[in-house]
Amino acid sequence: AKKAGRNTFRFYTQDMNQRSAEFLLLENHLRLGLQKQEFVLHYQPQIDIRTRAVIGMEALVRWQHPELGLVPPNRFIPAAEETGLIVPLGAWAMQEACRQNKAWQDAGLLFAPVAVNVSARQFSEDLEQVTAAALQGADLAAQWLELEVTESTLMEDVNEAIVMLGTLKRMGVKLAVDDFGTGYSSLSYLKRFPIDKLKVDRSFVIDILDDPDDAAIAGAVISLAKNLRLKVIAEGVETSAQLDFLSGLGCDEMQGYLVAKPLPAEQVADFLARWSAKQL
Ligand code: C2E
Ligand code: CA
Ligand code: CA
Ligand code: CA
Repeated sequence: AKKAGRNTFRFYTQDMNQRSAEFLLLENHLRLGLQKQEFVLHYQPQIDIRTRAVIGMEALVRWQHPELGLVPPNRFIPAAEETGLIVPLGAWAMQEACRQNKAWQDAGLLFAPVAVNVSARQFSEDLEQVTAAALQGADLAAQWLELEVTESTLMEDVNEAIVMLGTLKRMGVKLAVDDFGTGYSSLSYLKRFPIDKLKVDRSFVIDILDDPDDAAIAGAVISLAKNLRLKVIAEGVETSAQLDFLSGLGCDEMQGYLVAKPLPAEQVADFLARWSAKQL
């Protein structure tokens, strides 16, 4: 639908003219930013709720723009997806996250997978080769890389998804379904996806204490994961009351501001040292 939209200018308006000009500008800036290596990854710890151990780090991209400062991903990921620039940007993120995780291992700091977000465009291209190259380039074993794919990406082409997930699974990488519960999922497909983990979307966590519907959905996702023998992680946990509630529902893992915001790589060692000495 997006591809067709780009070539149909029949309903051209002043407003669209303005928007496409801005879009072109952003596209050119993104391309330059990639060339000039202005992107950085921040890392958000993922925690085992029972043991409090750090069981992962999610890599989240930011654009360190010379004039605009640190630009959050929601400002440029949609344009990167639309233009296809997400493919080289995503490949870079995977390489960089693997390199960083290897460095943490070599320093004896962390032995946990790094989780990298993969968008739909990457999923339907040469994701297998990109993943293999990132692991090889970093000399990182596949078990230390997790790929987060959204539910909506998987549902775009279910058969393609099953094949791609199978290939990645056989390589030994971990697979998580991001934003679970927000898309048009068909639960019957879930058992055909060779995945390891479901992520309870932040939108169900925000009001979990006050909105019985959100609590019911979070509870259902957690039960579903347990029954399918998948791990389950809640994202966007900001308060200990939310954590207690999720823990009561049987949730295994969490990430959120309660533990840490996404951190620049240089701050991770410091976080790990303080974390091991602290209680939630
Ligand atoms: P996501 O994958 O669902 O990532 C979770 C987002 O929630 C992150 O926002 C994270 O900083 C934020 N978050 C985590 N804990 C909390 C919390 O306790 N409270 C609140 N209010 N927010 C929390 P961020 O880093 O701005 O990323 C936004 C989205 O951009 C991501 O959502 C993901 O869809 C996309 N993204 C980020 N990096 C990449 C990437 O390398 N590749 C792709 N394809 N997408 C990316
Ligand atoms: Ca994610
Ligand atoms: Ca999410
Ligand atoms: Ca999201």
